[in-house]
Amino acid sequence: MKAIRWHPPSYDIRVERIAVPEIQQPDDAIVKVTLAALCGSDLHIYRGHGGVDKIHTCGHEFIGEIVSLGSSYGSHAEGRPKLYSNLKVGDKVVSPFTVNCGECHVCRLGYTARCPEGALFGTPVLEGGQAQYVRVPKAGGTLFNLSNPSTWSTTLSNEEKERALTGLADTSLLMLADILPTGVFAALQAINHPKVQPTITGRPWPLCLSSGTGTTGNEVPFTTDDRTLTLAIIGLGPVGICASVSLLDALATRRLPFRIVAIDPIESRREKMKAVYAAIGESGKGSGQFIVHSIEDAKLIVKDWTGGIGCTAVLEVVGNTSALTLAYDLVQAFGVITSVGVHGEPPLPFTGRQAYNKNVSFDFGRCPARAMFPMAFDLLVKRQDVFGGVGRPESLIDKLVDFDSAAESYRAFEKGEVGKVIFDPWK
Ligand SMILES: [Zn+2]
Ligand SMILES: [Zn+2]
Repeated sequence: MKAIRWHPPSYDIRVERIAVPEIQQPDDAIVKVTLAALCGSDLHIYRGHGGVDKIHTCGHEFIGEIVSLGSSYGSHAEGRPKLYSNLKVGDKVVSPFTVNCGECHVCRLGYTARCPEGALFGTPVLEGGQAQYVRVPKAGGTLFNLSNPSTWSTTLSNEEKERALTGLADTSLLMLADILPTGVFAALQAINHPKVQPTITGRPWPLCLSSGTGTTGNEVPFTTDDRTLTLAIIGLGPVGICASVSLLDALATRRLPFRIVAIDPIESRREKMKAVYAAIGESGKGSGQFIVHSIEDAKLIVKDWTGGIGCTAVLEVVGNTSALTLAYDLVQAFGVITSVGVHGEPPLPFTGRQAYNKNVSFDFGRCPARAMFPMAFDLLVKRQDVFGGVGRPESLIDKLVDFDSAAESYRAFEKGEVGKVIFDPWK
């Protein structure tokens, strides 16, 4: 089969013919890949920053069809995750970017990104999805069966899910592998954080955490400004855009007052964000302000909005120290920074004393995409105005290409010359 392979030490992408993967463990499935995406986090290894030196197949975002199942699958799989008993050859599936067992303590709690048996596709430990076929370990705990939507629950009924699925293009469904759940995760963590609750509930800390109506007896009423969420999103790549759309949707649904500044130093990304915002239907925008700025302008606008106090919460969707420094500078005392970017080796750009002095909360780390899938699916269905197309100014996906364009696509994507690229392994 054809596969896109990374060669050490860096910037070396080749399309090679390798053996089609086979079932190795009883819980494995083999998926014939219909589409695979290129992602910002593929660039860490591409640039040689991933701490890896082994040739491997790239990619962790793919959608496809089951062609082979291990011996664990079938009617004898009672008591295990449902897919072990009802996944069939021919089913259309999308995979989260990491494998998880779905059965351990960590998975049961929904923290599927950190399953002790987990692994990330497109690394030396697990061959990636930028290939014609991919082996999915623990597939019954990992995959989503798009042919059988009764195997996951959302706010939509089974009929609604089925109707929605017939209208969704594979290029759109592929966003469920990583970028959309990760964006939803960043937004969800920010607006559900305990420290954001005084602004949301209109009750001071810590009364905002209790459902009662008790008061301290000595409160000064909140102003309109006190009730307005001031939020910043740093990094407007595909995940940053998904986070923005998700945040706007959540704020609109809950009818919360807000002002958001979305920040990126690269003009083409800011233009994409503006085009996406313009395309979002009224129901997904809410009544707050949403503006897109460069870094310096963003600092000034937050200062202006808050009188120098800072943002209620900052979503950091880049994964480097300069983005984190900006997040720290923008956030208010008792503020929240949620960071979903993949951070490399450099130490965090602030000291314990700085963290103490701002009472700042940090939420770091990988999205549990398996657990976030249902929420992401609902948003995908709702926001086809921005998640539905390819190659339009407001599309998150810029191009659908064949494997022959792999090396050039990696090069152009790394240089910021092109946005999200999808590969068709069979073209
Ligand atoms: Zn990704
Ligand atoms: Zn697990």
